[in-house]
Amino acid sequence: MLATPMLATTAETSTPQQSTLPQTAEKPLLGQSVEALTEWAARHGQPAYRGKQLHQWIYQKGIRSLDEVTVFSKKWRAEVKDFPVGRSHIHHRSQSPDGTIKYLLRLKDGLIIEAVGIPSEKRLTVCVSSQIGCPMGCDFCATGKGGFTRNLETYEIVDQVLTVQEDFQRRVSNIVFMGMGEPLLNTSNVVAAVRSLNQDVGIGQRLITVSTVGIPGHIRRLAEEHMQITLAVSLHASNQTLRRQLIPSAEKYPLEDLLGECRDYVNTTGRRVTFEYVLLADVNDRPEHAVELASALRGFQTHVNLIPYNPISEVDYQRPSRQRVEGFTQQLKDKGVAVSVRYSRGLEKDAACGQLRASKATAAIKPKA
Ligand code: SAH
Ligand code: SF4
Repeated sequence: MLATPMLATTAETSTPQQSTLPQTAEKPLLGQSVEALTEWAARHGQPAYRGKQLHQWIYQKGIRSLDEVTVFSKKWRAEVKDFPVGRSHIHHRSQSPDGTIKYLLRLKDGLIIEAVGIPSEKRLTVCVSSQIGCPMGCDFCATGKGGFTRNLETYEIVDQVLTVQEDFQRRVSNIVFMGMGEPLLNTSNVVAAVRSLNQDVGIGQRLITVSTVGIPGHIRRLAEEHMQITLAVSLHASNQTLRRQLIPSAEKYPLEDLLGECRDYVNTTGRRVTFEYVLLADVNDRPEHAVELASALRGFQTHVNLIPYNPISEVDYQRPSRQRVEGFTQQLKDKGVAVSVRYSRGLEKDAACGQLRASKATAAIKPKA
């Protein structure tokens, strides 16, 4: 379902690297507010209304180059035409029978990231990536197995949404930060992207979900932004010992500290926190785990999303049977926990949670003969 895919790799190299973005004096225009664009236009000797025009052409018309802005004078267009708007190129797209489309997008520096469009009758959800790779190394996640390359810039996040919107020729309604990467290791750019997606692209904050495995202090930091987004916390275990086995970073972040930050988040923002729980057969799906989970979440007005594990080749976890999933779900319900099961969509195209891996992405982007 909305849980999704991730993964990106490099087109030319798989060697981790720091940002190789071109060092322009000014950042690309995508992701900037109308005020910032107005200032940009003023710095280039143009009147204030040019900022509004720029905003409209970038976010509504989806220009890729300033040369396309026909309302600008030819002379000025010629002057600014090489200034980067910040759009990616679709390197590859593949569609699952259920309509989910996975995109491999090529960035300015040649690196490839993934975004996924998940349509339903009423919604078009985009699953966006926040990093290239992920350093958190969760044991069940292909992204985690693939290492880390770099954080995405704000415009590279906003671009994913515009690209899916254009390709589907339909307004995006929902966004989930459940693609590749850990959003709270890139909090500044993620927060700026959320604000731009809200104010510039026009997507309600309540329809934007940021999913995190939890980084000490960062949920609190996010709370201070006072945004109306939905925070989803990837819990996956009902006690600290089990969590540490599945999520190496949990070693330095005891479960009770994580839950404490979540409580603070609720108090500061007035928003609920959702918990995600990947069900791994015979690892964390036993009745005693459900009982323990319900007790750990006591006092939270919350919703638990159970995600039956999507197999990856690096590890030999199994997806639990439907009966087991139903049993776990019922047990939580009996304890008064609101719960839903999220079978990932896009499995056929490896576009489901944690399924992509570098070799597949690389194979998919081989130049056509
Ligand atoms: N880094 C963030 C967001 C990206 S992962 C996080 O971990 O929350 C988005 C969701 O996909 C997370 O809940 C993650 O645990 C889940 N996921 C990762 N690998 C998976 C797999 N193999 N099967 C099912 N869900 C998986
Ligand atoms: Fe990173 Fe999330 Fe995968 Fe863990 S589950 S490795 S945090 S993308």
